[in-house]
Amino acid sequence: MKYDRIFNFNAGPAVLPLPVLEEIQKSFLDFKGSGMSVTEISHRSKWFDHVITDAVERTRRLLNLGDRFEVLFIQGGASMQFALIPMNFLTDGKKSADYVNTGTWSTKAIRETEIQGKKYNVVASSEDKNFSYIPKNIKFNSDAVFAHITSNNTIKGTQWASFPDTAGVPIFADMSSDIMSRPLDMEKFGMVYAGAQKNIGPAGVCMVIIRKDLLSSVPDNLPSMLKYTTYSSKNSMYNTPPCFTVYAIQLVLKWLEETIGGLDKMAEINEQKAKLLYDYFDTSNFYSGTAEPDSRSLMNVTFRLPNEDLEKKFVTDALENGFGGLKGHRSVGGCRASIYNATPQEAIPALLDFMETFEKENG
Ligand SMILES: *Cc1c(COP(=O)(O)O)cnc(C)c1O
Repeated sequence: MKYDRIFNFNAGPAVLPLPVLEEIQKSFLDFKGSGMSVTEISHRSKWFDHVITDAVERTRRLLNLGDRFEVLFIQGGASMQFALIPMNFLTDGKKSADYVNTGTWSTKAIRETEIQGKKYNVVASSEDKNFSYIPKNIKFNSDAVFAHITSNNTIKGTQWASFPDTAGVPIFADMSSDIMSRPLDMEKFGMVYAGAQKNIGPAGVCMVIIRKDLLSSVPDNLPSMLKYTTYSSKNSMYNTPPCFTVYAIQLVLKWLEETIGGLDKMAEINEQKAKLLYDYFDTSNFYSGTAEPDSRSLMNVTFRLPNEDLEKKFVTDALENGFGGLKGHRSVGGCRASIYNATPQEAIPALLDFMETFEKENG
């Protein structure tokens, strides 16, 4: 079938693999011979039970999780996790958490801890250079309950290439915009969470991967919907989960395993895609990347043109030529190409062609 689709560089909600959308289209009227839409089946049915179980198992396999971790699905997005983390884990008034501030999302996570009056230390920040880099040689506090980082900074276009040594303190990572983009050694992590709508599905749920032993410190006297133990004891189905989103995630994970061939392969493809763009910036006098080279994100490529009028024209002309979502986040301006897992490889040379033509005509 042929569709009139554009190359979608949106930051989130973002592009999904076309085979996944096609499968969803089919099951929208009749899910697995049930005679019902995937949006009409009961979350207590055998059909949905298979969906959520399979999504969890695929996550376990893709990230090599073993038995130490649980995979949960929680509504409220990544932003809800900013609040739940201090609420559930900073319960001993004498203890504090370490945060690294690498941009808008880290700042919001820190604010939620502050609001609750919990103790924390910002052990490093890249605010001095407009968050254009990932801090190095950070000294973490060995008695911190957790060390919170944002693995990929969707708005600023920076990403941790490797994860810091935290003196044994479990890393809690917001991986909303790079989960499943590369293999992950979970050894250093206590928790990884990701709003689905960047790299693993449509909006509506946050994937939370959490080390089981940490759950024992979650206090009982929190509202049921706000504590991790509720989700863990009820297989993420204490109440009605966002069934459709979980279903779409299941299909994306299946695509990752069976079509792409796992996260090593995905990482290789992602590196190739990003390299094409960054190599181009490095030789261009017209386009310039905003992130420091050793901190560049493989997911969100941020760049500037010589002035804001040209940037505006670039975004408009690009869309007319079939390239959507290239405007930078409203808080920073400039341009951004979000090139997540589902961005097809051919989108990059096509975009580069357009960029060259645009430069010739406007440079
Ligand atoms: C988009 C994003 C968020 C916010 O996610 P919501 O699901 O909208 O709450 C948080 N962190 C990062 C890194 C993001 O990219």
